[in-house]
Amino acid sequence: MKNITVTKTFLPPQEEYNTILKHAWDKKWITNRGDLVLRLEEKLKDYLQVDNIIITNNGTIPIQIALKLFGHGGEVITTPFSYVATTSSIVWENCKPVFVDIDPIYLTIDETKIEAAITDKTTAILATHVYGNPCNVYEIERIAKKHNLKLIYDAAHCFGVNYNGQSLFNYGDVSTCSFHATKIFQTAEGGSMFCNDADLYHKLYYSHNFGHDGSLKFHGLGINGKISELQAAMGLAMLPYMEEIIVERKRVVEYYNNNLRTEFIQTLKIREGTDWNYSYYPIIFDNEKLLLEVERNLNENNIVPRRYFYPSLNTLKYVEGNPMPISESIASRIMCLPLYVNLEEENLKLICSIVNKEHV
Ligand SMILES: *Cc1c(COP(=O)(O)O)cnc(C)c1O
Repeated sequence: MKNITVTKTFLPPQEEYNTILKHAWDKKWITNRGDLVLRLEEKLKDYLQVDNIIITNNGTIPIQIALKLFGHGGEVITTPFSYVATTSSIVWENCKPVFVDIDPIYLTIDETKIEAAITDKTTAILATHVYGNPCNVYEIERIAKKHNLKLIYDAAHCFGVNYNGQSLFNYGDVSTCSFHATKIFQTAEGGSMFCNDADLYHKLYYSHNFGHDGSLKFHGLGINGKISELQAAMGLAMLPYMEEIIVERKRVVEYYNNNLRTEFIQTLKIREGTDWNYSYYPIIFDNEKLLLEVERNLNENNIVPRRYFYPSLNTLKYVEGNPMPISESIASRIMCLPLYVNLEEENLKLICSIVNKEHV
């Protein structure tokens, strides 16, 4: 029986993966920034058009490393509408998340509400370019500069996104990405961090490698954020398919755009100037009851969308969050539709007919 899930990992041909991996076998070198990691970093710099990248073992550790450097146990202004890793990293690093509600159209942090949340304990802003949709980066940068705050972007969804002519990873003091199997470019587990400042790059770099300065000396505190050659080989095998992957995802997004009765549901509005990566297709219903009804109908047809993001992160048990009416409302009404390479048109048709039907 068919099973249409919200995402399906794109896997490159296994022989191509094995061919790349053979290098690690021949050299008997499978981790500690081996040749495959170095090769992948060079290829990604070129593909993404960025000056610097540090590949890491997932997309959470770079957020934690950035917070370790910038957070200083203070208050970190953040969005309640993201994956749990955004908030949990702040708490894990002994900082206090201070939530600022989101813009109801772009679904990113509402930059007009940030300044009111700044106190003398605020050390950083951690915002998410949700679904690859850029935050208002210029305004947030202005606020961060004015108040002398560090600016971190959780850009887990942003592989390949360009904003106003350059990689979205170039904005903020540090930007992070995830290469998790559910993400558009994947290494099973993996991630990366980006920054444009040489001193900061050096700190991020040694922080992800136990603080090492050669084998016997240490620059400072660090953790193990390294990725293995096995994962880097996956990344190298994936890269040649990225163009095809984006074309395919665009096809699915356009099918939804053309066939969903969008007068009844809200879809994602991408900020102008964005060259998007078609990473997610969220739809927002009028109320949660309707969402649950549609979800049930889809499930009955073995179609499994995902309530992404739910819950609003200010409601997590381990945070003291003020009410965030917009984020809580949207989190209760939003779900992501299946979106992956080779999702057949007949299934797209079925999904659209089920979603559309509920409104009449
Ligand atoms: C996937 C994701 C992460 C975490 O990435 P991992 O690679 O799974 O650690 C962080 N933030 C957001 C917004 C994500 O979607």
